Amino acid sequence: AAADTGAPTIFDKIIAKEIPSDTVYEDDNVLAFRDINPQAPVHVLVIPKFRDGLTSLGKAEPKHVEILGQLLYVSKIVAEKEGILDGFRVVINNGAEGCQSVYHLHLHVLGGRQMKWPPG
Ligand code: 5GP
Repeated sequence: AAADTGAPTIFDKIIAKEIPSDTVYEDDNVLAFRDINPQAPVHVLVIPKFRDGLTSLGKAEPKHVEILGQLLYVSKIVAEKEGILDGFRVVINNGAEGCQSVYHLHLHVLGGRQMKWPPG
């Protein structure tokens, strides 16, 4: 399991367009792009362009409340654009035990198939 070292992540290179990604939505503060290893027909990652200490949700502070709201709202926009508004899931993996592998906060937007509950 990966640990939070605070080092830059591959998402910085995606934000900087140094490595390609399939962008679904972008504004000044938020980028959404398709996961390279999709776990559902629709699997989009929604990330802040400025990590600002948000390696994971567990590092959130009061100064992050606005961007946290934007990320959740963009998840809805992504679901709408992808045609899955009637059924989708938003996931944040937190820390090693939560199966987080990239330490730049990201929301997974998943859908396009019947989801299962409880998750594994
Ligand atoms: P986590 O396990 O940290 O919640 O999710 C990290 C996600 O980032 C994984 O679903 C993984 O497939 C995705 N990912 C890792 N590297 C890349 C990459 O270079 N490009 C894209 N599009 N997704 C990536």
